[in-house]
Amino acid sequence: MGKSLESTLKQRLVDDCESRLRPFLEYCADAYFLHDLEGNILDVNQTACDHLGYTRAELLNVNVTEIEQLSSPKDLLNEWKLLVPGKPHLWTGINRRKDGSTFPVEGHNQRFETQGHSLVVALVRDVTERKLAEEKLRQAATVFENATEGVIVTDAEANIVTINKAMTKISGHSEAEVFSKKPSLWKSGRHQQAFYQDMWTSIQQTGQWRGEIWNRRKSGEAFPCWQTISAIKDDAGNVTHYVSIVSDITTVKETQSKIEHLAHHDSLTDLPNRLLFNARLEHAIRIAHRDQHQIGLIFLDLDNFKRINDSLGHPVGDCILQSVGVRLNTQIREVDTLARLGGDEFTLLLEEIAHPEEASIVAEKVLDIFNNPFEVKGHQLHVTPSIGISVYPEDGEDVTTLVRNADTAMYSAKAKGGNTYQFYTSEFTEKASERIRLESQLRYAVERNEFRVYYQPQYNSQTVRLTGAEVLVRWQHPDLGLLAPAKFITLAEETGLILTIGEWVLHAACSQIKNWRDQGLNLQRISVNVSGKQLQRSGFLETVQAVLDETGCRAQWLELEVTEGLIMNQADKAIGFLQGLREMGVAIAIDDFGTGYSSLSYLKQLPVTKLKIDRSFIQDIPHDSDDQAIAEAILALGKSLQIKVCAEGVESEEQKMFLKSTGCDEQQGFLYSRPLPANEFIEILKKETVI
Ligand code: C2E
Ligand code: CA
Ligand code: CA
Repeated sequence: MGKSLESTLKQRLVDDCESRLRPFLEYCADAYFLHDLEGNILDVNQTACDHLGYTRAELLNVNVTEIEQLSSPKDLLNEWKLLVPGKPHLWTGINRRKDGSTFPVEGHNQRFETQGHSLVVALVRDVTERKLAEEKLRQAATVFENATEGVIVTDAEANIVTINKAMTKISGHSEAEVFSKKPSLWKSGRHQQAFYQDMWTSIQQTGQWRGEIWNRRKSGEAFPCWQTISAIKDDAGNVTHYVSIVSDITTVKETQSKIEHLAHHDSLTDLPNRLLFNARLEHAIRIAHRDQHQIGLIFLDLDNFKRINDSLGHPVGDCILQSVGVRLNTQIREVDTLARLGGDEFTLLLEEIAHPEEASIVAEKVLDIFNNPFEVKGHQLHVTPSIGISVYPEDGEDVTTLVRNADTAMYSAKAKGGNTYQFYTSEFTEKASERIRLESQLRYAVERNEFRVYYQPQYNSQTVRLTGAEVLVRWQHPDLGLLAPAKFITLAEETGLILTIGEWVLHAACSQIKNWRDQGLNLQRISVNVSGKQLQRSGFLETVQAVLDETGCRAQWLELEVTEGLIMNQADKAIGFLQGLREMGVAIAIDDFGTGYSSLSYLKQLPVTKLKIDRSFIQDIPHDSDDQAIAEAILALGKSLQIKVCAEGVESEEQKMFLKSTGCDEQQGFLYSRPLPANEFIEILKKETVI
């Protein structure tokens, strides 16, 4: 070094500069270099030595072009040459240490002339730390922007400062739309206030909350998220920001439920598989055990299905199984479970049945859906099932037993030639077929004119004068003789035949009273029982009106008896409905009163003209003081609401006297008369009329 300057001169120049700069350089954090236009170093400070790993003496023998790596030596020389004296030049570069390692620098240099020589002074700063920080920030920003998770940054008051691209995509909001708003703008409304309170408590206590949460997109759609919220604190421990990471787990959830579905459903028919069926049955058994009701399990196996598979091939077989699934599905109530256990075996779970015959009704319907042939790939195929039925708890109290016994019953259906059903308990099969016999006979009973109308007189308690008669139906069965309503009314209600029967009874009774009155016999009123099924049917009012018109019976001669339970079950409908009847002039009695838990306030709103105390409360009078009290309470209630009260089932003098003394308006019962056919009842009428 120092080839172009003599060493004495060099020393002088250095001394001169040093005297001016040295105090400043002492405290300088930057490396200081003094070099000539060729890059020969004349002077450095300690910082330069520290940065570059040379001793001062070594460094004075190094050329600047060997240190600076970013620009080529030629460019550097050029640069120095072009420097304008007195004007600082800023630059960035990469310096090389003695050990060969490099580090980023930033510097500025300035050229000056002294004693006829051009020198360059440079102050160079190691920017490793800053570059690293910048790089980190840049990386963080890249991560922030490109993360698949949504990121929300808020200030300490939870005002949104920024959100990333992913959050924009997830929520549908742009950054501008949410800026300075609260993250609660994404609230789904699916969580209670307490949920959010717990969340904030956790953030305050632990600095973090994570969990599953439902948020709402701009579109209004709610979606499930996995969310982490962290509080960011400064050195003093004060929260400056909250950062929230949001993963949209909609698809995860969807996949989960898809997998769940696949695990529990049969892929061919998409019906529940054995796994799900067993689970449902087990659940149903628990409920049935608790609520003391019966369950029906129908096991169905296609007859000769193997032959179809063998002769026409599996694809045809598969199509049939699918069609069977579809047809069966139309036959079940929403609460029941239809499943395919495998092969050509289907099961149907009837979660609550009132009696085993109910399962046989379903089995009948199932048989019906096989009446039409299945059309598969140009083939018209007749397929029939064999059905076995087991009933909880009679035929088993656990899943395995119930399924096994239904399966056994199915085999006895097969043994009978298929296309039929059998109960595991043969007695049920008999009952069911008896019921079916009765049902088909009941269907023809109306047209065969097998119903009879009986009349039971009702009397005024005080005067013992006839006030009216209750109309009670009987069925004159060709083989079984005269059947009481208990034998067929429920069946008629279940099959809907009650509509025809009820209308027939109403018609018969109305024309009978008209007939008697035309003969001058004084029957003031007939009471006709009406089933819930009739009331539920729209057009009942019109039917009543039509019957009155056709028979010439006046509305005020007619009273309809409706059971208490029926009105209470259909509270809102009932008021309007009964109102309609009252407007027509028809009287309304609540039958079996005291058994249906009427609310008194409700009773007040009903346009009712009579309460009939249920026979069960009369029965044990005067021996049972509770019943007596109930009867008295009903009487008091009737009085306060100004509704007449009729006691039914009066069988003894004591009952009669008790009711008379407590102010009961009317009485009816075997003590006075059993229900009588018209030709016998007319005798009572005649006597009454004479008196
Ligand atoms: P209900 O409306 O409570 O009718 C009174 C029942 O009590 C009648 O039985 C009657 O024969 C019986 N009974 C009357 N007095 C006495 C008595 O002193 N002691 C005893 N032990 N029983 C007495 P029935 O005729 O067998 O009718 C039974 C039920 O069938 C009726 O109960 C009613 O709910 C229903 N029913 C009868 N006819 C019809 C009808 O035409 N349509 C509808 N929907 N239901 C009817
Ligand atoms: Ca009645
Ligand atoms: Ca009754």
